Amino acid sequence: MLQSTVLKSVHAEGVALHSGRRVSIALHPADPGSGVRFRRVDLADSNMIEARPGNVVDARLGVRLRNEAGAEAMTVEHFLAAASLLGLDNVLVDIDAAELPIFDGSLCQFAQMIDEAGLAVQNVARRTIAVREALRVEDGDRFVEIAPSSQRRIDMTIDYPAAAIGWRRVTLDPDDPTQRKRIINARTFCTLSDIEGMRARGFALGGSLDNAIVVDGGRIINEAPLRDAEEFALHKTADLIGDLALVGARVEGAVTAHKTGHELNTRLARRIAALDPA
Ligand SMILES: [Zn+2]
Repeated sequence: MLQSTVLKSVHAEGVALHSGRRVSIALHPADPGSGVRFRRVDLADSNMIEARPGNVVDARLGVRLRNEAGAEAMTVEHFLAAASLLGLDNVLVDIDAAELPIFDGSLCQFAQMIDEAGLAVQNVARRTIAVREALRVEDGDRFVEIAPSSQRRIDMTIDYPAAAIGWRRVTLDPDDPTQRKRIINARTFCTLSDIEGMRARGFALGGSLDNAIVVDGGRIINEAPLRDAEEFALHKTADLIGDLALVGARVEGAVTAHKTGHELNTRLARRIAALDPA
């Protein structure tokens, strides 16, 4: 299995979820072994931020990366998930602000950008980390673990007090094209009360029904139906894939997650990355 980069540069624009600002994103080809790097074109120097677990400084609302000079890239998880699912290893991602666009809250537009650019196979083997013994991180009844397996599989359970979401479970193979498409299409979600809390702290200023499913108790506020009966659990799977992509290698193992989120996922990414430091 060989590494790949984008065949040509592509560009898009969209609104950032938390800042509410219009931001620009461009993908450029990158050398083998360079991984995913975000470049803040609005900063003069020290503007390169590598996607790796050691650069995660906050994972409460989304994943925020910071380099040694303090330059940040926020809400990177959906791009990382799309790149991981589509087999894009090395790419330079130019952004002109501290946060990536949210687009429609799913991975769709990032996947479209990668499709539009096309993939160029590079003559270097993709790094693979095969888990030899189970690793688990937990917090109360929430956990995420990876166990040795020759097949990649994700078993995701979610359990939300809001009745419109509730308890759901999906078991997915991220290498299966049909299941991959379902993961790519699934949008992020939140509750009406989450929005009030985030807005009060200056977050989610760009959030709207155009980039999230919004739930109030047993009701979904968006007029259009869900894209998939399991859209909520599928999106949590997308987040998990993006968070584990921080490892910077193809990770082989069976993942089981229960009520997990970015904080637990990025802690697991750190443990996996430590198995085989690049
Ligand atoms: Zn997400």
